[in-house]
Amino acid sequence: MIGGGATGLGTALDAASRGYRTVLLERDDFGSGTSSRSTKLAHGGIRYLAQRDFSLVREALRERNRMLRNAPHLVRKRSFVIPVGGWAAKLYYGAGLKLYDLLGGARDFGRSRMLSRDATLQAVPTLKQQRLYGGLEYFDGQFDDARMAICLAQTAADYGATVINHIGVSCLLKTGNRTTGVEAIDQLSGETLSVSGKVVVNAAGIFVDEIGALDNSDAEPTLAFSQGSHIVLDKRLLPGESALVIPATKDGRVLFAIPWHGVVLAGTTDIPVPKPLVSPKPAPDEVDFLLTHLEEFLVDKPTNGDVRSVFAGIRPLLAGTGGAKTSSLSRSHAVFTSENGLVTVAGGKWTTYRQMAEDAVNRAAVVGGLARRTCVTSDLRLAGYPTSDDAAEGLDYGFDASQLNSLEAESPPLREPIHPCLPYRKSHIVHAVRNEMALTLEDALSRRTRSLLLDARASIEAAPAVAELMARELGKDVQWTQSQIKDFSETARGYMLPGFAK
Ligand SMILES: Cc1cc2nc3c(=O)[nH]c(=O)nc-3n(C[C@H](O)[C@H](O)[C@H](O)COP(=O)(O)OP(=O)(O)OC[C@H]3O[C@@H](n4cnc5c(N)ncnc54)[C@H](O)[C@@H]3O)c2cc1C
Repeated sequence: MIGGGATGLGTALDAASRGYRTVLLERDDFGSGTSSRSTKLAHGGIRYLAQRDFSLVREALRERNRMLRNAPHLVRKRSFVIPVGGWAAKLYYGAGLKLYDLLGGARDFGRSRMLSRDATLQAVPTLKQQRLYGGLEYFDGQFDDARMAICLAQTAADYGATVINHIGVSCLLKTGNRTTGVEAIDQLSGETLSVSGKVVVNAAGIFVDEIGALDNSDAEPTLAFSQGSHIVLDKRLLPGESALVIPATKDGRVLFAIPWHGVVLAGTTDIPVPKPLVSPKPAPDEVDFLLTHLEEFLVDKPTNGDVRSVFAGIRPLLAGTGGAKTSSLSRSHAVFTSENGLVTVAGGKWTTYRQMAEDAVNRAAVVGGLARRTCVTSDLRLAGYPTSDDAAEGLDYGFDASQLNSLEAESPPLREPIHPCLPYRKSHIVHAVRNEMALTLEDALSRRTRSLLLDARASIEAAPAVAELMARELGKDVQWTQSQIKDFSETARGYMLPGFAK
């Protein structure tokens, strides 16, 4: 398996849980690509109703419901409110949401409903009251994408898969004319290694065509790329528990402002980009676009001081024909097999990762001539699945309170917060190093904890102490500590409002 995002990790789990010997190599960190830069919704996608892509909505809702059932410690129900300015809009969106309910939206999550003006304001107290007629409420899933990625890696490892981060595939190995292995470079030590097997699965996200070119330099590109940016705002702008849905932006998209980890996540944009980038950054006009739309709906204008961080991700979209707009390209997925037997799985959404994985492993089993074995992930509980309701309460998006408590009991200084503005303690960092394969400062501050997204400036301030703690755990020297702080601070400045990074 090449690539440790949602697709590759899901595929590794699927293969290992069927009993196939599985190795997954990730060039950077698990989830560090698009899979940690999403809107963090396990959803059918109300937007695709307008595009009449009902089969995608039905498939995604089925997978959303499975995500909640198999990982209740990582996926939460969230109320979404669409404010409307008149009865015609209320009927229009109400009918759409009834269809969403029927396609599977109501199952496990509850039915959508119409809200009076007062009930709309009760759910979203900071909505502008002028021109507000009423609203609609529906329910979808919300999760922490990077923590879900780690959980998939852990679950795959529990089933016997070897999953390794910071190892990048540089070359494909052939037996005759068949692709049967990879050569890879350890990005931290520079060492090379090779892995051979019966079949190679390319799940490199926006980089699948790069891997495809290693397989066959004449391979046709399969993807189109679209950048989506988010801003992370102070909770005062949306203090309730319901998310705000702006159903039609100027470019015909749905915009969300969603409570998440004590902040508000607002996004997203959809800008075609010519090529994949490892570290995409939000453009100033994307940030303006998001702020301007929010300003139209919220009582208080978001100020620059409200912006805790900004981040961007690139969607791996199956390329359409005839130069279609990226926002109208399908979010469905496909599995391709090259002449040399490289299996590539591309497109899709986080929510459909499990189905993508099932399809990829079905194909890989045929291509690799493996013994036929049935997929078991539909009902497979992910690592950390709570054993009782009490245990579920001790879990915060995948951190097990009892593990943190025992670390803190052994060493009380680990109870200290890593920064007064961040909801994490030193024990979270030690846990990330000891149990979650965090090898760099960015792994710990960006994806094991979500410090970088929650407050970019605070994460830079926390970096020196966290780096020292990690150095002690990993047995690294002062030089390592300093270079980690420098690299991380440089990365984190890219998460600050354009023009505000100092
Ligand atoms: C702005 C935005 C918002 C989104 N919101 C949602 C949402 O709310 N809900 C939803 O369901 N979906 C959402 N999506 C879609 C979802 O995030 C993606 O479909 C999904 O994360 C893609 O996962 P992936 O594993 O295919 O790609 P990635 O996560 O990019 O993983 C590919 C991995 O391959 C690795 N790799 C590349 N080259 C190599 C190599 N040579 N060797 C080893 N590894 C390599 C990369 O480092 C990377 O980690 C959103 C996407 C974007 C951009």
